[in-house]
Amino acid sequence: MNIEDRGDVSPQISGCGTPESAWRDCETLRQLPEFTLPRTDLAIVLAPHPDDETLGLGGTIASLLDRGSTVLVLTASDGEASHPHSVTTSPEQLRVRRQEELRRAIDTLSDGRPGQALNVKLHLPDGGLAGVERELGEHLYRFLDPGVLCFSTWAQDGHPDHEAVGRAAHVACARSGARLIEYPVWTWHWAVPNEETVPWWRAQKVNLSPRTISTKWSAIKHHESQINPLSERPGDEAVVPPFDLLHFERSYEVLFV
Ligand SMILES: [Zn+2]
Repeated sequence: MNIEDRGDVSPQISGCGTPESAWRDCETLRQLPEFTLPRTDLAIVLAPHPDDETLGLGGTIASLLDRGSTVLVLTASDGEASHPHSVTTSPEQLRVRRQEELRRAIDTLSDGRPGQALNVKLHLPDGGLAGVERELGEHLYRFLDPGVLCFSTWAQDGHPDHEAVGRAAHVACARSGARLIEYPVWTWHWAVPNEETVPWWRAQKVNLSPRTISTKWSAIKHHESQINPLSERPGDEAVVPPFDLLHFERSYEVLFV
């Protein structure tokens, strides 16, 4: 995620968005078929910012690790632009802080599970991933082959960085023969139940065990700089406030397969 896009960059992502109660009542969502995670030696999870991997896919990552897969989280940017108007925390401080939060979150997702979790940071510009889409695709391509399962933010997730990552993943996966699966993050904020632009026809859900839900929640809490205000000062507001966080407390995750 990243707050600058709430108003300035992405008009879709402003205000309180669609409440989780509306999604809870959504028949389409309730009736989605269950996705059975394929056995794979290597899964790549492409995340635009540190926190997207946990919010959108933390339960799936833990489930893959339960099955003994290696999961490589490829973090496109360091998330340094999450609070562009902060007077208390500089982009450089955010970069350091968010890298540490990411390390803790990934450690939590993998703790006690047989699979191995790895992280590679690409240090591409937060807020500017569309400008380096080709470079991003080249980085991703190096890790792909036809046996790899690649997860990326949905190419129409409503956030410029998330969409750039999704487009780069489409190109790299088509070129390599890797299987691409997309995960929505901001979609739950701007879309409404039965939204026509959401590809419900290829949406499936990964049901999470109580242990996995608890692991995911513990991992989310490590992304402190995003779910809590940095301070009481203007510009330091939480990027993922409680009403958005509710979308990620579900007992399932949705994938576009
Ligand atoms: Zn993000």
